[in-house]
Amino acid sequence: MPFIHGKLLLEHARRNGYGVGAFSVHDAETIQAVLDAAEEEQSPIMMQVGQKVIQHIGLEPMKVLIDALAEGYTIPIAIHLDHSREYAQSMEAIQLGFQSVMFDGSSLSFEENVAITKQVAAAAGALGIGSEGEIGKIGGTEDDITIDHEDALITTTSEAISFAEKTNVDYLAVSIGTAHGIYKEEPNLRLERLKEISEAVDRPIVLHGGSGVPDEQVKRAISLGVSKINVDTELRQAFTRGVQDAFNNNPNNYVLADTLGSGKKYMKLKVKEKMKVFNSSGKAKALLQLIRV
Ligand SMILES: [Zn+2]
Repeated sequence: MPFIHGKLLLEHARRNGYGVGAFSVHDAETIQAVLDAAEEEQSPIMMQVGQKVIQHIGLEPMKVLIDALAEGYTIPIAIHLDHSREYAQSMEAIQLGFQSVMFDGSSLSFEENVAITKQVAAAAGALGIGSEGEIGKIGGTEDDITIDHEDALITTTSEAISFAEKTNVDYLAVSIGTAHGIYKEEPNLRLERLKEISEAVDRPIVLHGGSGVPDEQVKRAISLGVSKINVDTELRQAFTRGVQDAFNNNPNNYVLADTLGSGKKYMKLKVKEKMKVFNSSGKAKALLQLIRV
């Protein structure tokens, strides 16, 4: 499996008009679902390890598991640490060989967020690893933190510029109207703001809360500078439905390879669907040539 640093991957996506799906994984089956989808679509991927699974399984075991399961696949992959709120955890991921790390200081003051993100970006940058920072507050519930709708703040262009310059982070998560989790009403992305920020900071933009955003809005967002789209909720829904259907169809089948396998199959289809929307299908080859140069 060819691993690729997050920065190189997202800069290629930005230059070539596609978005990279950053798919959250939670266990062996979800890792295989993402890998199988990527191989079939010949799409590069980011595979995200989030805070919930770190509490549940652990950071190092997840890295080891992904490395082991990725054996034999041919598409470029970057393993990414999602929403780290601890400097020490970001450093641990870098030491473990993650290809991309996010430090999320959006709940801190601007100054504190800048100070820690800058250190993480410097450490990651020294090793060529990609770094992600977040400015503005994205609403909804992600793993272990909930931001109320009223507290979600649309990122201003001036704070995005200042944050990018001060931290030198490789890619920027901004709040432009998406939320983590399930949407109560259809989201309306602030595309004008996105365009302004993307042009001003001149680096890849990350869209969190990608589940449930209408495809047309996602495509527009990619054309305006979004290069990484985080998807978790829709994948968990697909996986769960797969498992439910397996039990409903055959309530006395206790072979977990069958029930979990059904979840894996449903999730794989959802990931493939996303890759087509993000226009990342078929982009693996060009990236592989880039890595081999
Ligand atoms: Zn997020």
